[in-house]
Amino acid sequence: MRPVRDILICGASIAGPALAWWLHQHGFRPVLLEKAPAPRPGGHAIDIRGAALGVIRAMGLEASIRANRTQMKGTSRLDRDGNEVWRSEEMTISGGSFARDAIEIMREDLSRILLGALPKDVETIYGDSVEMLREDADGIDATFVSGTQRRFDLVVGADGLASSMRRQVFGPDSEYLLPFDMVLAPFSSPNMIGLEDWQITYDDGNGSCMIYTAPGNETLRVCFGFTAPLKDLLEDRASQIALVRENCAGMAWHVPGLLDNMEAAPDFYLGPIAQVKMKGWTRGRVALVGDAAYCPSPFTGQGTSLALVGAYALAREVAHYPTAPADAFARYEAIMRPFVEVNQAIAGLSRDPRFGSDPGYYTDVIEPAMAHAENAVKLPELTGAYT
Ligand SMILES: Cc1cc2nc3c(=O)[nH]c(=O)nc-3n(C[C@H](O)[C@H](O)[C@H](O)COP(=O)(O)OP(=O)(O)OC[C@H]3O[C@@H](n4cnc5c(N)ncnc54)[C@H](O)[C@@H]3O)c2cc1C
Repeated sequence: MRPVRDILICGASIAGPALAWWLHQHGFRPVLLEKAPAPRPGGHAIDIRGAALGVIRAMGLEASIRANRTQMKGTSRLDRDGNEVWRSEEMTISGGSFARDAIEIMREDLSRILLGALPKDVETIYGDSVEMLREDADGIDATFVSGTQRRFDLVVGADGLASSMRRQVFGPDSEYLLPFDMVLAPFSSPNMIGLEDWQITYDDGNGSCMIYTAPGNETLRVCFGFTAPLKDLLEDRASQIALVRENCAGMAWHVPGLLDNMEAAPDFYLGPIAQVKMKGWTRGRVALVGDAAYCPSPFTGQGTSLALVGAYALAREVAHYPTAPADAFARYEAIMRPFVEVNQAIAGLSRDPRFGSDPGYYTDVIEPAMAHAENAVKLPELTGAYT
């Protein structure tokens, strides 16, 4: 078979640019295609841990990512009237213990750094997506929504939890999405409560939200989370905002003001909490990477680390088998499968009632499980953990 050269990657958030970087590094010609008209703003603080630290280190990006990390010094839990009922200066709820070597960074900052690291000759197309794929023995034709037609050797879906590549090639969401019937709605707000380098969980018994400072303290990131069946999730912003209002209207303290700020937030995002569970992540000349393939859900805090390691592993295997993509894909699946399974299992621990309120639960249960899961991948060059 002719060696692989041109590779289309759909999605330019985390997995997509990381994969493009690694493929370019191995001498391939990746094309990055993003549906949004520009790099997407917004998103919660996300974490890079374990083997994923090895990936950003190998990309030469560790220093710039650490320089842009969140700067929080601790966390408090507040009651309905805003009184502090618990505090810690050793951890945050979103990032875990400060004692561990992990980087917490806003999703948009990490995405910006990854996109900025791409060599100039990596073609990046915004505001378009794949409408149709047609594969033959020599390659795969992609027709974009804009009408553009291009031919590639491989196509990769890095288009997130609601991946349309997964739907087009592997089948409907109902076969692969495991919803937890909860949503998260993060957005930015002016720092109207004077919070400094700190994280708050406000819980009034009816509902809760997490609030923390973005680096520099000028803005807050607010995240509401509540129960909502996947089938009720509407795509337009106005309906999503109405859903948050409906579920959080009864909350007191500063929440009404934060809900008002939500209306104007440019980066408001509402997404279901769900996992993607698939028996295989590749078919023919198409592969999935990151949340599209194996979203572990925000309950694990490992979505970004799986995406970074998955991008690295996929590029590594395509580089090892440039004339045999099926072998490359089989190796990619074999490397990632145990890593994904152990990380997806963490979601169960985060759903325990002690999560978010009992510090002992972190030290005795969550931290040991995370410490094991974040390096449970047989890529010795990243972890040094296996021979
Ligand atoms: C705006 C936003 C906010 C987020 N907020 C949070 C959060 O608060 N907490 C959390 O844990 N995780 C959040 N995530 C998910 C988090 O980024 C991922 O779990 C993780 O980093 C893995 O990234 P990924 O690149 O696989 O997927 P994602 O980060 O979901 O990126 C998928 C990308 O594909 C693009 N895309 C979608 N459909 C198509 C298509 N048909 N063609 C081309 N491109 C397409 C999307 O616009 C997006 O840029 C958010 C993601 C986004 C995009």
